[in-house]
Amino acid sequence: MKKPYEKPVIFKLKTGFMNKFGGGSYFLKKVRTKIDGVPVDELVERFGSPLFVFSEKRLRNKFRELKNAFTLRYPNVEFSWSYKTNYLDAICAILHSEGETAEVVSEFEYEKARRLGVPGNQIIYNGPYKPLDSLRRAAREGARINIDHFEEIADLEQVADELGTKIKVGIRLNMDTGIKPQWSRFGFNLENGQALDAVKRIAAGGKLELVGLHCHIGTFILEPRAYENEVRKMVQFAYQVEEQFGFKIEYLDIGGGFPSKNRLKGVYLPPDVAVPSIDEFAERVCNALLESLKPGDYPKLILESGRAIVDEAGFLITTVHASKRMPDGRRAYVLDAGVNILFTAFWYHFNVELDREVQGPSEPCILYGPLCMNIDVVDDAVQLPPLPRGTRLILSPVGAYNVTQWMQFIRYRPAVVLIGENGEVDLIREAEDLSDIVRREKLPERLKLQ
Ligand SMILES: *Cc1c(COP(=O)(O)O)cnc(C)c1O
Repeated sequence: MKKPYEKPVIFKLKTGFMNKFGGGSYFLKKVRTKIDGVPVDELVERFGSPLFVFSEKRLRNKFRELKNAFTLRYPNVEFSWSYKTNYLDAICAILHSEGETAEVVSEFEYEKARRLGVPGNQIIYNGPYKPLDSLRRAAREGARINIDHFEEIADLEQVADELGTKIKVGIRLNMDTGIKPQWSRFGFNLENGQALDAVKRIAAGGKLELVGLHCHIGTFILEPRAYENEVRKMVQFAYQVEEQFGFKIEYLDIGGGFPSKNRLKGVYLPPDVAVPSIDEFAERVCNALLESLKPGDYPKLILESGRAIVDEAGFLITTVHASKRMPDGRRAYVLDAGVNILFTAFWYHFNVELDREVQGPSEPCILYGPLCMNIDVVDDAVQLPPLPRGTRLILSPVGAYNVTQWMQFIRYRPAVVLIGENGEVDLIREAEDLSDIVRREKLPERLKLQ
């Protein structure tokens, strides 16, 4: 079919347009009418816009990719789902059905995992703030607890006294793995001797038994070598602790932090080039383990990968509500989804796809969200043709951190659906309405309007 005539246009090019900091705009004119075989139109008709859509097939495939990469290289691996990355019941249930345990960082996440049916001994309890009552419950139910600070050692000793037993614990370490900035606010520092002091303190108390080491070096780490450094330091420390204090380290929990195929702002290369494969991370980690462990020694390797598993399973369908020409000449669109539900828009340039062919010249555009707030920008430089009102954009990957960090601000949170492996669509979280928001409010009698 002959394409309709397009009038030529002239744009002013801004200097520094494409540079190594990735300041440029981009758009590969891509059309997506379906997600996992389900028409975008049909999804919006049934569940409204904006709409989060998760693909069960992608989620399971991604997890299996990670699982295979590690279990083929090391004989004793546990995968623990990082709840804060996405704690929707349906998502957690899928990952638990794949054999993942639960990694939680608050009493709320702990309760959510238990309510879903995860037994306490399948839960890893991390984080800097663990209220005493939650420690009591976790210890009683046999959860793995990774201690963050000295006060928590004392808290757990108190719990051990109450229970009349020794409690097995892990400690979280932070260390220099070559990643800048170094995360040093969680756990005990390795290089300055603080971690060793923590072990001394645990040994002196005599009420806890150190059985694990934990570390989580950061997030969206693009450097497999950092994990190699992490693992070598952890193994060395494990043997030091064994020799000096007689604690046998049963598990090395290396945390999460593997990247997804998302385009980080400021990274010029496309994700397919900039983001190493899971195999590259697995190779580094497992080689480092096998090289530094004593022969026949296979402590459990625990991975708490979040983003790398779920990010690419999530899409957001959003609709063009209006278009504007800005005073500087740039084209802008108002969408029905903004930073209220897309927290990761602050870090990523999402992949943008259209639900239809659109004719006309592409130009750099700004995508604004629906909020009455200046920072509500989904993307400030995406190359798009002139979009008619009602055009749907499909943004991805958005599966990690958005449906946990979203906020009820100005608008209701939208529905979330899951497309099953055989194409059936299930609502996994209803769109909110006024009742969700006012349910907890109390209006004093004297303030009631007549
Ligand atoms: C957030 C977090 C994870 C998951 O991190 P990702 O970057 O999403 O893989 C794992 N472990 C701990 C302790 C965390 O806080």
